[in-house]
Amino acid sequence: MITFVGAGPGAEDLITVRGQNYLRNADIIVYAGSLVNPKLLGYARESCEIYNSATMTLEEVMTVMTAGARAGKNVVRLHTGDTCLYGAVKEQMDWLEEEQIAYEICPGVSSFCGAAAALNAEYTLPGVSQSVIITRMAGRTPVPERESIRGFSAHHATMVVFLSTGMLPELQKELMEGGYEPDTPAAVVYKATWPEEKVFRCTVEKLAETAQENGIRKTALIVVGNVLDGEYQRSELYHPQFTTEFRKGKESLSEDSTREPGNIRFR
Ligand code: SAH
Repeated sequence: MITFVGAGPGAEDLITVRGQNYLRNADIIVYAGSLVNPKLLGYARESCEIYNSATMTLEEVMTVMTAGARAGKNVVRLHTGDTCLYGAVKEQMDWLEEEQIAYEICPGVSSFCGAAAALNAEYTLPGVSQSVIITRMAGRTPVPERESIRGFSAHHATMVVFLSTGMLPELQKELMEGGYEPDTPAAVVYKATWPEEKVFRCTVEKLAETAQENGIRKTALIVVGNVLDGEYQRSELYHPQFTTEFRKGKESLSEDSTREPGNIRFR
């Protein structure tokens, strides 16, 4: 059996319990060496064969994995964050389909969640944004024109930009020309959840400058949106007058126990 395992964003204890069990039982691990914390390999048995895919081609990775599976070994393909984002996982799954080798996926904590934790942020706030756009600037991998940062910016939603730390002057230009105000809150989150994590809060117009001043060139996420600073509305769900399936709302509010609904200023 082959299992694709999401390693989590960095910290070695942010892999799931299930993912950790797969590592403990693995005979072969192929890990994405550029971003997976090598400490995770400490969960593997002494006898486990370990390969770093950073130096391998797809063909080489698949040769190791298919030979292992055919020999009845437990094979783990360890990818950073969660397997559903920017991991080149689909081409491996399709290869296995073609070879009729069974596989499954064990999800992980994506770095965009790690970044939210580092920022003490909630990406969806009532009255501010109820959507998160996960995207990237085009690099060697093209981005379809209909998904341009400029186009997405018109929504003023929360945006998390992967794989683009080397292109911040272009990114901030696209964000502003697309519709975000230059003073929209933004952040550069470097190596979220790793011991060397760094968080730099700024505004959209200062993204490139902020990263440059702090020497951040890669392994960072750019988070943009008014959820990072400003006003929002308190939730309906937890409002004393709101009735849900689980709780009956109160008819009147006693002044001393209730904050008025409406805008809350935070930070
Ligand atoms: N599947 C991964 C993303 C892989 S793409 C996930 O779910 O997180 C690699 C990009 O992810 C990096 O260029 C960087 O933009 C981002 N990234 C990965 N780990 C990160 C971390 N701990 N902190 C900040 N950004 C990270």
